[in-house]
Amino acid sequence: MTDKMTGFIKIERKNYSKRPIEDRIKDFNEIYLPLAEGEMMAQANRCMDCGTSFCNWGCPLGNLIPEWNDLLYMGDWKGAYEKLALTANFPEFTGRVCPALCEAACVLGINREAVSVREIEQSIVERAFSEGWVQPRIPKVRTEKKIAVVGSGPAGLTLADDLNALGHRVTVFEREKKLGGLMRYGIPNYKLDKKIIDRRIDMLKMAGIVFVTNKWVGKEMELEEIKKKYDAVVLSCGTWVPRDLKIPGRELKGIYYAVDYLGQQTKSLEGTMIASEISAKDQTVLVIGGGDTGSDCVGTANRQGAKKVYQFEILPKPSKERDESMP
Ligand SMILES: Cc1cc2nc3c(=O)[nH]c(=O)nc-3n(C[C@H](O)[C@H](O)[C@H](O)COP(=O)(O)OP(=O)(O)OC[C@H]3O[C@@H](n4cnc5c(N)ncnc54)[C@H](O)[C@@H]3O)c2cc1C
Ligand code: SF4
Repeated sequence: MTDKMTGFIKIERKNYSKRPIEDRIKDFNEIYLPLAEGEMMAQANRCMDCGTSFCNWGCPLGNLIPEWNDLLYMGDWKGAYEKLALTANFPEFTGRVCPALCEAACVLGINREAVSVREIEQSIVERAFSEGWVQPRIPKVRTEKKIAVVGSGPAGLTLADDLNALGHRVTVFEREKKLGGLMRYGIPNYKLDKKIIDRRIDMLKMAGIVFVTNKWVGKEMELEEIKKKYDAVVLSCGTWVPRDLKIPGRELKGIYYAVDYLGQQTKSLEGTMIASEISAKDQTVLVIGGGDTGSDCVGTANRQGAKKVYQFEILPKPSKERDESMP
């Protein structure tokens, strides 16, 4: 094994590989193929354990990245998981779909490729699940305070997990049939398999959290009613108001919002909708917007069998590597 002092010089960044395009376009299964454990440990060895670890500042969760990289380099997967779990409630979600601000902040990225923090995170948590190290956070003592959380997206689930671990009795209300918010009905399955969400929800249920689905607060149940029954109510409803484009022709048929389109596709896959109402099959598709949501629509349209897909973006094409404007 390369010694820790020189790992960042001798080892190149190696990413997960992707399933071949001709295969992955035929289904909605996850596209990434993880590296072998030894390769992941080598990638962790690229971390310089910086005195001022900008990755840690860049991470919105304040993940202890150099610490778990070091433990992984030494082969201590369990220790690495325990360190990761100190700050990240659901590393299996962030390890798949987080935009990895840590990597954009990584010091090694100044003149080499940044440490592959997100993939390392995913590897650690998947190993932890397979070894049974991920356990429900059951509190030793209950406060008997009752808390209602409205909305089961990542915000609501994190709140529920933490408040339950502190000993409160938590009930989550969700208007949809299934839990997970935009992780379930926005992000396509090929980026985040919904089994990954279900696995975590099972764990949260075992920890004592109660989930009430198909319950639209404010419509099927009054907020006042909840306020009377609970000591505290947290609203974590997300933002489901799409941004419209007020231009001539907007009223024409065949123009849809991304989340309606993506959500229908996921519902069709999970069997809660007979067929996707909006389908790109044999259609020529234009996606307006070149961000992540736009890319998700491109990927979905390709998988549905679109004849051709165009994508318009107002900004210039971003560079593949850091340029002088991104020091
Ligand atoms: C297409 C798409 C792709 C994305 N890709 C990524 C990505 O790759 N990486 C990334 O980091 N982020 C991504 N995001 C953003 C990410 O999904 C959101 O930032 C995140 O889901 C917000 O979490 P949240 O819990 O605040 O809200 P949401 O996920 O929106 O969850 C809110 C929940 O509250 C429920 N709810 C709302 N009102 C009520 C009510 N009155 N009663 C009961 N329930 C209610 C909703 O049904 C929903 O389940 C993407 C978003 C979209 C749309
Ligand atoms: S900034 Fe990069 S090299 Fe430095 S500690 Fe963080 S991940 Fe390691």
